[in-house]
Amino acid sequence: MSTTAQETPDNAIEIDDLRKVYAARGGEPEKEALKGVSLAIPRGSIFGLLGPNGAGKSTLINILAGLVNKTSGSVRIWGFDQDTNPRMSRASIGVVPQELHLDPFFTPREAMEIQAGLYGVKPADRRTESLLTALGLGDKMNVGARSLSGGMKRRLLIGKALAHSPPVLILDEPTAGVDIDLRRQLWDYVRELNAGGVTIILTTHYLEEAEEMCDRIAIINHGTVIADESKDALLGRLDRKTVTIVPVAPLSTVPQTLASQAAIETTITPDGALAITYSRREASLGTLLELTHSAGIEIRDVTTSEAGLEGVFLDMVSPT
Ligand code: ADP
Ligand code: MG
Repeated sequence: MSTTAQETPDNAIEIDDLRKVYAARGGEPEKEALKGVSLAIPRGSIFGLLGPNGAGKSTLINILAGLVNKTSGSVRIWGFDQDTNPRMSRASIGVVPQELHLDPFFTPREAMEIQAGLYGVKPADRRTESLLTALGLGDKMNVGARSLSGGMKRRLLIGKALAHSPPVLILDEPTAGVDIDLRRQLWDYVRELNAGGVTIILTTHYLEEAEEMCDRIAIINHGTVIADESKDALLGRLDRKTVTIVPVAPLSTVPQTLASQAAIETTITPDGALAITYSRREASLGTLLELTHSAGIEIRDVTTSEAGLEGVFLDMVSPT
């Protein structure tokens, strides 16, 4: 195979201005699922694509996997352009789809062998048994896929995605419908793969999951990337909250009890209210109200803002 890309690119995946419009179907109007997404996924990272249901995560993953055709934009996988070098770009990723589709007539061993064959892995280079064993399916290699539990199917799909030893593994909602114990095993295995050099991309609609697993997180909502940064930076930002305290008598200066607090930022609004931005880890609304009260300020009203990311997150975490 001829390779034009460098052996180890800085970014495992580069996506530039990616758009996807699904055609109208059955009374449904056309749908713009991705509205110009650009992302660079660093080699060696565990990258989280976080967003509520319908945000466009699976659309993005399925375009990377070659299962959905993009409308416009460019995708490079391991340095290979998807349009000009489809074979190499495809060989560079393994994708675990969101849906648990498996042919019920094949055993895990057969499913793995067929997958390896599809990617041209020679029988001597196949890892069927070691992968199935590592995934805890050692004693299920020869049973029909029909008799596998949901968690086992998920693990078999991971095995299939790894059959050709790709440097990048993508998992679309890997823990949906997976119980706690298995989730832990799954994450341990994913961390092990990552420690062995595999770049991991996973999608989730749970902030906690992205927080636990990922070193970098992009948030996607309505087909648009609204954040893309290190986990620490993102959590720092999510932690900030603003409260506006409206006093009975308008203020002209910030009271000393509040101005002297290092952990908070205070300003006076044009109509004499007190706007306080604070970290939820470092201060509580109760403390702020006490400080205001102890400065002799009579409080008429208190409003908190959940704008931007926080608002998005509230949407996300609230059950749908
Ligand atoms: P997520 O994985 O983040 O939940 P999806 O990528 O599955 O989001 O969906 C994004 C949007 O595109 C949704 O509004 C969804 O209804 C729509 N969509 C997904 N697949 C199709 C399709 N095959 N045809 C038409 N619309 C689709
Ligand atoms: Mg999805």
